[in-house]
Amino acid sequence: MMSNASNIADLTWVEYRHRLAEDDAIVMIPVGALEQHGPHLPLSVDTLLTTEITNRAAARIGALVAPPVAYGCRSQPRSSGGNHFPGTTSLEAGTMTALIRDLINGLARHGVRQIAVINGHLENDAFLSEGIERAMVELHRDGLSDVKVLKMSYFETISPETIDTIWPDGFPGLALEHAAVMETSMMLHVAPGLVHMDRLPDEAPADIPPYDVYPPETGWVPPSGGMSPAHSATAQIGKTLIDEFVTLVAESVGGEFR
Ligand code: ZN
Ligand code: MN
Repeated sequence: MMSNASNIADLTWVEYRHRLAEDDAIVMIPVGALEQHGPHLPLSVDTLLTTEITNRAAARIGALVAPPVAYGCRSQPRSSGGNHFPGTTSLEAGTMTALIRDLINGLARHGVRQIAVINGHLENDAFLSEGIERAMVELHRDGLSDVKVLKMSYFETISPETIDTIWPDGFPGLALEHAAVMETSMMLHVAPGLVHMDRLPDEAPADIPPYDVYPPETGWVPPSGGMSPAHSATAQIGKTLIDEFVTLVAESVGGEFR
């Protein structure tokens, strides 16, 4: 019996070849990070949430999903707390660029013509673009000029209605949402057994200037690693956000490729 699984790692190569032969095959690649998310969330948050959103979106549009990239680019203090927290295990920009270039090249050379890179870690974004552009240059050079890649960071677009509902006192911005209400709520919806609300500290939000310094200033970041308090996180908020992001990803990828 042929497998209907959408995760390509679960298919035999014969099944995979068969699926690629179907019209309009799409392969989606979730990209996350292994990174501290405060004392209450696991290191896998960016990978776990991105993979879940990608899987749900893929199911809606009949796309295939590649195994996630579970490591991300160097965490910056202003947006994710920085690299000084044990467990935040980052890739250099060049490593990520080469990795995503290789994945695009490999998929395309076996016949994939529509690839969607779905990102869940802020610092990855520019280096994913760079890796995709390098793959496109190499594919064009080799005569494969009909490959199209979509890249999106799923968290970048939240509707004004959802922002007003979840943050009635004003949205603090994506950087301060690291390990805060947004990610904690989504984790409560998707993987509540991995969330430890009883370990949340009473801390003020991070107070960060509008620039970076090198070497990094670890004192800008609250000691727990969370950028702002997550006490008001709920599974219901998480469901609202996950549903919205799944729809956004499915409509973006489906709209571009279908
Ligand atoms: Zn995160
Ligand atoms: Mn991150």
